[in-house]
Amino acid sequence: MSEIVAEVTDLLQRLIRNGCVNDGTADSGQELRNAELLADHLRGSGAELTTYESHPGRASLLARIEGTDPAAPTLMLMGHTDVVPAAPEGWRHDPLGGELVDGVVWGRGAIDMLNLTASMAVATRRLAASGRRPRGTLLFLGVADEEAGGAYGAGWLMKHAREAMACDYVITENGGVLQPTPAGERIGITVGEKGICWCRLVVHGTPGHGSRPYGADNALVKAAEVVTRLAGFRPTAHITQAWERWVAGMGFEPQMAAALIDPARIWEAIEQLPAELAPTAHALTHLTLSPNVISGGGKTNVIPGRVDLEVDIRKVPGQSDEEVLETIDTALGSLRGDVEVEVLQCDEPTESEVDTPLWDAINRAATDVYPEATCIPSMLTGGTDARFFRSLGIPAYGMGLYSRAMTLAQYSAMFHGNDERVDQESLRLTVELYSAVTLDLLG
Ligand SMILES: [Zn+2]
Repeated sequence: MSEIVAEVTDLLQRLIRNGCVNDGTADSGQELRNAELLADHLRGSGAELTTYESHPGRASLLARIEGTDPAAPTLMLMGHTDVVPAAPEGWRHDPLGGELVDGVVWGRGAIDMLNLTASMAVATRRLAASGRRPRGTLLFLGVADEEAGGAYGAGWLMKHAREAMACDYVITENGGVLQPTPAGERIGITVGEKGICWCRLVVHGTPGHGSRPYGADNALVKAAEVVTRLAGFRPTAHITQAWERWVAGMGFEPQMAAALIDPARIWEAIEQLPAELAPTAHALTHLTLSPNVISGGGKTNVIPGRVDLEVDIRKVPGQSDEEVLETIDTALGSLRGDVEVEVLQCDEPTESEVDTPLWDAINRAATDVYPEATCIPSMLTGGTDARFFRSLGIPAYGMGLYSRAMTLAQYSAMFHGNDERVDQESLRLTVELYSAVTLDLLG
């Protein structure tokens, strides 16, 4: 086993075992443990280390390797150190065990994204320890609280440590899985992501005695219809430039390619896509409405007068919050008058340009490893910390690099899912990709 593989495997196992589980509450996560672990790993290498604590136990680590030429660009490698909760009963191995079994590391975060964070730290340590100083500056940020929106992580740092975060390019999660297509292998580099407009829908009714339901104005019965209408609603497709480029890059046969960018035909085209592509294709071309939380009623014999629904609504680049509210109006139709809509949280969709020196450097590094493959831009349906940088005009891409053992279907299912795991070859490829991109871009 190579030294790189041993180093990155060990670091990943420890990051997993620290179990920095972020359940969305302020005191969860406790990423200070992973920040200290990363600092221990980098200490003595020559990188300059700073820890930022946004709230007791919520710490992020910044490592800096100063370049020799102040005019040369600064690249940030940004990896989050928190993970989402895991229910052990659905797993074949302990989700916080970080077990290595037959060349595969198991555990929560093995894909999202402690694998990449560990690889970034190893690439940074190796560059610092080599004594070689590129012209440009390299930053590595092991950041807290990505999984709950970044208020104690990237969002906090952009407010309180903006100067230290200054950079020209960012690499973060996720991307780099090989996808076979009829036109050859493709590697997706993530260039953008959808925005959110999470809403609470308060459904009103009239309280009454549960023994006389005939003709009752039951808020729960109405809420059930509201859920049905939201879930079944089909907003008109919204085709973005990034989607058009992705479709063009995937080598679909011409009729399919044309249908996938035609709002009038896209629904039928999505139905013909393989199961691992269809939900993403749908999400990247539509405003999505997913009713996910219901609360209301209190007693078996009382007809409820109020039920609250929380709906996860996501916008594609170009869609506004006004469009979200209009879509809710249309979907609810006659029930709209019984429902109050409250916006809970909003984040705008973001997209980076493709025509940048960082894209070219990533493309060269990835195709050095897989000469037959072509890199294509792709979008995420979920949100990442990249948005904090993209919204300032800083190109931010999601990229790792995976072995052929990783299929897109397997990869997608593991995000926040069971049996999250990564093979050691993918860890090695990712460290080498980050090292190559750093030297190429920073000179
Ligand atoms: Zn993530």
